[in-house]
Amino acid sequence: MPPLIITATPNISWMHPQVDYPRTPQAIAEEARLCCENGAAILHTHAEGRWKETIDSVRARCDIIVQCGMSSLPISERMEVYENKADMISVILNHHDEAFTQTECNVLHLRQELVQYCLLCRKYGVIPEWEVWHAGSVWNLDYLIGRKLLKPPYVATLFFGWPGGTWSPPTVEEYLYRRRLMPEGCVCNVSIMVADRATTLGEGQRDILTAAIISGDHVRVGTEDHPYDHSGKVVPTHELVKETAEMARALGRPLATVQQARKLIGLLASSGASPFGSTSRSPAVSARRYHEYESRHHHRLGAGNRRGVRASFCKTRLRRHRAGYITRGAKSRGAGQRAWGRMRFLRLRCIR
Ligand SMILES: [Zn+2]
Repeated sequence: MPPLIITATPNISWMHPQVDYPRTPQAIAEEARLCCENGAAILHTHAEGRWKETIDSVRARCDIIVQCGMSSLPISERMEVYENKADMISVILNHHDEAFTQTECNVLHLRQELVQYCLLCRKYGVIPEWEVWHAGSVWNLDYLIGRKLLKPPYVATLFFGWPGGTWSPPTVEEYLYRRRLMPEGCVCNVSIMVADRATTLGEGQRDILTAAIISGDHVRVGTEDHPYDHSGKVVPTHELVKETAEMARALGRPLATVQQARKLIGLLASSGASPFGSTSRSPAVSARRYHEYESRHHHRLGAGNRRGVRASFCKTRLRRHRAGYITRGAKSRGAGQRAWGRMRFLRLRCIR
């Protein structure tokens, strides 16, 4: 069994927004250091929108793996995460449908967006953390794997009890059911939000954390998920990490060091290896793979929605081209011209 990776999430408590949490890059970095000291190997941060400063501050303070959250944001607003070379980026595999105490979050995420994330992660050498909220999320992960857009290990977090239309019961039965659906080659983590007043002490969370620890999976804790410790007291995230580390010790599961965690998730900074194989693959090659994926996808569409989807593909392609994902950095002008030519052809088809 691999050592246990604890992910710390010292962010806003969506269900208990009155709970304090670190908000400045310096405060986030100090909390990250304490979490690391108490056994966490990954920091899941929202950075309060200050991505660059937060990534830099955390790195100056400790070597914890930096995972950037807020997967509800559009890709255009997450480019800083890539440009500042965070270690990981969270990507939801389904739509956002969340009902928090003061916030409703409803965001569509199309499969084209997931494909775009795969290409960006490969280009920038950032590990995607796939958020799995229900069985349909697993279908989408299989879809990406089937199109050879990803290579193992597939780092995934299974969510339980988060209120809204993507809610699932925070029970061991649900964990075991969904866990069985996960493809081979996954490194699975769990995140449990305990929204039910009757279980404020977090029985559901404790059950799933325990099941994950003894099954060889990994765990995430922090104010974002559930800000209460086992005695029902609100505590900072590093204390929740400490409590979880003690649980793991009691269950005989050693904790992963940051270096071990890097190896487990395929982030081998020291050797320069990439979970995507060669990082020297040019963006033009990625673009070709995207064309292949896209043309296959067209054949599968029913006649009814073909035109609408084509139109949305065209818009996406145009945006992608303008953003430079398709041809920027292409070694030969030929590749760029081919991409342009094909795009214009597709546009003509759309206009019809
Ligand atoms: Zn988050």
